[in-house]
Amino acid sequence: MKFDVEKIREDFPILSEKMACGRPLVYFDNAATAQKPRPVIEATAQFYSQDNANIHRGAYELSDRATSMYEKSREDVKNFLHAAAEYEAVFTSGATESLNIVAQCWGADNLKPGDEILLSEMEHHANIVPWQFMAERTGAKIKVAKITPEGELDMDDFRAKLGGRTKIVSIAHASNVLGTINDISSIAAEARRAGALISVDAAQSSPHFLDNLECADIDFLSLSSHKCFGPTGSGALVARKKLLDNMRPWKFGGDMIEDVAWSGTTFRPSPERFEAGTPNISGNVVFSQACAYLSKIDRMAAQEHEDELLEALTEGLLEFDGLKIFGRAKNKVPVVSFAVEGVHYNDISSMLNNYAIAVRAGHHCAEPLMGTLGLMGTCRVSLAFYNTMEEVEYFLRSLRHILSVLR
Ligand code: PLP
Repeated sequence: MKFDVEKIREDFPILSEKMACGRPLVYFDNAATAQKPRPVIEATAQFYSQDNANIHRGAYELSDRATSMYEKSREDVKNFLHAAAEYEAVFTSGATESLNIVAQCWGADNLKPGDEILLSEMEHHANIVPWQFMAERTGAKIKVAKITPEGELDMDDFRAKLGGRTKIVSIAHASNVLGTINDISSIAAEARRAGALISVDAAQSSPHFLDNLECADIDFLSLSSHKCFGPTGSGALVARKKLLDNMRPWKFGGDMIEDVAWSGTTFRPSPERFEAGTPNISGNVVFSQACAYLSKIDRMAAQEHEDELLEALTEGLLEFDGLKIFGRAKNKVPVVSFAVEGVHYNDISSMLNNYAIAVRAGHHCAEPLMGTLGLMGTCRVSLAFYNTMEEVEYFLRSLRHILSVLR
């Protein structure tokens, strides 16, 4: 069945906004954050209008209701990811916090001098810096698997760097710069054979329906609700419960303790041990509404639609003289980074703004990858299923006009 993008767009009120230049918004910065559908917006208002109370500790109806909604959302998020019973979902503020929990809570007690952490050249800072910090503290070493000229993970280099000393492989499912989709099932199988754990940064894959945990034997999965059309400040770390229960917490305070005495404190099992203090209750409750919304979408049709947009965008960009696309992997999410000879990426993005087109320019929190590519930054177009072919064509026409002025 054909994907009815116009009908989908009716669910996203912001897509009808006009920008200061008087033109309707063309939102092509979905890798930074996705727009929110009506059910998410309405559920947020509803939570604060009818259900708001602090969770887990109130002996009254409203607190019980908020607690039930919060815990039901946890189950909904796990179900959305098809997580098996052995997995638990810890609510976090987003993929960054999830990855920090893996690096800091698992790393602190499981890494020692001589151990290795295997990352890839295409990682976001959120999957680099926490490991650097942990490597410094434990004496472990970071190894980095290379990418091919097409922007795919170089599996030969990955295998060469994976060995008996590798304790964990931590890798993006999809790159926020190149768009590359990594074959997590194969990577996880190789990691497992080497005796290493596998942590997957799913921040950029989950918005594109690449959310199936069932087929990959992974240990930790990090994602952000806001990139999945849910609220900001909310996300999850979905991981094997037995690993989580053996990890020491990193944030301490209320809600995560079993008993507190001056002589010492004992902690609750996961997920509570990682959720000290009052969490983002409404955000985490409404995260499940974003999952529910995505679950109702015909994912095959949506993916096909995104692929068509990606192809048209790529083909269109390749017609420009002096323009280079970074990331030509066979399997991609609809993210296209490009640079134009002699033109600064910031000039392109700010001139696109005059056409009401929102794109991102810069290093995209992937400075080491920019180093590999020999760049300071790129212009990045990142699409979602609510974008249209007309928007892609308008973008290409606008870019042609801009470059004729700038060059
Ligand atoms: N990982 C990747 C691949 C990302 O693209 C991002 C954000 O852009 C993150 C992690 C961090 O996500 P957040 O800022 O939602 O914590």
